[in-house]
Amino acid sequence: MGPLTDHLIVISFDCLSGLDFPTLETLPNFRKLLINSSYCKNVKTIYPSVTYPCHATIVTGKLPKNHGIINNTLLQPGKVSPDWYWYRRDIQGTTLYDEAKQQGMSTAALLWPVTAKANIDYNMPEIFANRRWHHQIPVSLVNGSSLYQLEMNKKFGHIRKGLSQPELDDFVLEAAVETIRMKKPNLLLVHFTDLDTKRHETGFSSQEAIAAIKRHDNRLGRIMDAVKLAGIEQKSTIIAIGDHSAIDESKVLKPNVLFHEHGLLNVGKNNKVIDWKAYCKSCDGSAYIYIKNHDPRTIKMVRQLLTRSEIEAIWSSEEASRFGADPNCSLMIEAARDYYFHESVEGTFIDEITQKDVASKKYTKACHGYSPEKKDYDTLFIASGKGIQSGHVLPSMHLIDEGPTLARLLGLDLGKVDGRVVEEILIL
Ligand SMILES: [Zn+2]
Repeated sequence: MGPLTDHLIVISFDCLSGLDFPTLETLPNFRKLLINSSYCKNVKTIYPSVTYPCHATIVTGKLPKNHGIINNTLLQPGKVSPDWYWYRRDIQGTTLYDEAKQQGMSTAALLWPVTAKANIDYNMPEIFANRRWHHQIPVSLVNGSSLYQLEMNKKFGHIRKGLSQPELDDFVLEAAVETIRMKKPNLLLVHFTDLDTKRHETGFSSQEAIAAIKRHDNRLGRIMDAVKLAGIEQKSTIIAIGDHSAIDESKVLKPNVLFHEHGLLNVGKNNKVIDWKAYCKSCDGSAYIYIKNHDPRTIKMVRQLLTRSEIEAIWSSEEASRFGADPNCSLMIEAARDYYFHESVEGTFIDEITQKDVASKKYTKACHGYSPEKKDYDTLFIASGKGIQSGHVLPSMHLIDEGPTLARLLGLDLGKVDGRVVEEILIL
């Protein structure tokens, strides 16, 4: 089982949806990539469909319950800004980049989620300075490849304005182009978040979101040019993917407000949670409900409190686990369209989202996290280059199939996975 390609470049355009496909077909660089590609515009994502679990799935081929990244952030009730699943050690089992490294391949990752302190040759992990006394650059440096990041910051740091978009992705792009040129890695993972940020701030179909897709087209073009200039075009494979779609919302649901009103949760100063029997941990479009000791009476009470039209489904722990989500939750809830979940204990259970809320970043206009079964909620997968059939259109595929398929391209094996190698698109 030898490798089918020499250089695998995986570009994740966060929040790129199956619904964006017609737009991509009108853009020069996506159109160019599509010409000799195999693709799928109906890629079912995972549950909960949030960025960190999705990206862990892409590099492991596993469902969240099996790779361990069951949400973006950790369960830390009372913490204003909970920590994220930043570290590679949070992922159970092997990954695409670990297997590549083990076979002596060179690896690089730019802002790929859950790679802090990973064994990647050229690594600029996605990790934010999450405490007042933390400064972004040293936080990134100690958690990734220091020299490499210093070099990239020295050359392109002026482009970046903290975490603001599109500057952050423009910085990541220059680092990606430079990395292809100077290092020619066998595996390059790049994560762009411009579109996701704009969709959260301005809605799914906003002008700003369309503008972000156009910027992504330019970024794709720059990467394709870099591959050509590096003289590795014939030996390379480019994979352009999304991780989930998004849905617009106008109202917020705050289950913790209900839990507080019914004595299931206590707060101290500044509405800080100090003690809880039931706690709602948001995944935006869905949410986990954690209940101390899975107490059956509390579970029953919470079910009654949450049985309302704004909540589309209430899943048991077993059902959540069957969908691949955290088996340790007591319940999992799915918001109806137009709603999403927030962990706040303040105010009323339902809040109308105002423009002011969005401007102050209190709430968002669109989000993800919803069930993969929601209508028109698929993401997409485009593969082109060495080892890839030309013109094969897959009617459907699953995010868990991406890991084993990418591994197969490099002649690697991820072991026991939940997905399958999509052999139809490969030149075996
Ligand atoms: Zn995402």
